[in-house]
Amino acid sequence: QTAKPGGDTIFGKIIRKEIPCSLIYEDDQCIAFKDISPQAPIHFLVVPKKPIIKLDEVEAEDQQLLGHLFLVVKKVAREQGLDDGYRVTINNGRHGGQSVYHLHIHVMGGRQMEWPPG
Ligand code: 5GP
Repeated sequence: QTAKPGGDTIFGKIIRKEIPCSLIYEDDQCIAFKDISPQAPIHFLVVPKKPIIKLDEVEAEDQQLLGHLFLVVKKVAREQGLDDGYRVTINNGRHGGQSVYHLHIHVMGGRQMEWPPG
């Protein structure tokens, strides 16, 4: 069986526009959309179109892509009005609390974030 372009997770379906999302940014390498279960007044995800399973699976060839994702985080955070700062999180694997196995960056803001997280 051939893997679908964009991957076989729920995020692959969102990337292929098979299921809807609240899209806020898209280019040839990634998309950003609102999290369906927001943990802050503003909570969006930046997701590479390449279906990398998790941070542990990133390779040297992905360096440019990773840098691009963080520039998109900054650009979209500014567009969303997060001028007072925001939390950026990557959950990696089981103990990291990852639930969708397609690499994604959480961006949360609009309230004071606490540290350390639970
Ligand atoms: P993880 O726990 O894997 O780091 O985060 C996955 C995130 O994806 C969760 O915050 C969850 O609310 C979000 N999520 C899961 N399914 C969907 C969906 O179908 N649409 C959107 N917009 N977000 C989703």
